[in-house]
Amino acid sequence: MIADLHTHTRHSFDSVVDPREAVRVARKKGLTSLAITDHGSLTGALEAASYARGTDLQIIVGEEIATDLCDLVGLFLENEVACGPVERVAEDVRRQGGIVSLPHPYRGHKSPEALVRWVDVVEGFNARTSPRDNAAGQALARAHGKPSIAVSDAHFLREIGNARVTTSSSDLKEALLRGDFSIVTAYNPAYLFAASQLIKSFRLQTYATIPKQLGWIFASLVRRR
Ligand SMILES: [Zn+2]
Repeated sequence: MIADLHTHTRHSFDSVVDPREAVRVARKKGLTSLAITDHGSLTGALEAASYARGTDLQIIVGEEIATDLCDLVGLFLENEVACGPVERVAEDVRRQGGIVSLPHPYRGHKSPEALVRWVDVVEGFNARTSPRDNAAGQALARAHGKPSIAVSDAHFLREIGNARVTTSSSDLKEALLRGDFSIVTAYNPAYLFAASQLIKSFRLQTYATIPKQLGWIFASLVRRR
């Protein structure tokens, strides 16, 4: 199985991806499983699941859920999980047979060391996170004996599948919990991270941050040459 375990659609405030297109691109790239993990919503995942029905692509219904200590990702969900205290969110995910992942531990998290005990797996590689922060995430996973996964955290179609997990097991959930998988890693272009922050500013009407974000996009495009 080849799985990307963290992606977004237009049902997140910082993405414009159409769920139908996400299914098309994931299949074209040869993924067998795609987790859609929108911020606080299962709508995009359920929509994608309806488009993937009858194909060789399995949609894993997921959600990126805000907690008092920052975000967690729930995978293999049946119902939306409300944001709240970290222990309650983790318990809600597991009660419905899901697993809990710690996304990009060293990007935007106040205290990853306090979060890690609540999770089943850790994102040791997130394609939108710096190599230094990913190395710290891998060390955190190792220190706490948690399997370390690789994810794209795609907010645009071209990022889907850039980082992924592969396993010969036919039960992906079990393979993740046992650490019975390999990872494939590639970074997303930096300007796409800045572009998703720009979409967020327009959606949330935080216009004051837009000039700075346009500066990031410009700087990352110039650096690419
Ligand atoms: Zn995300």
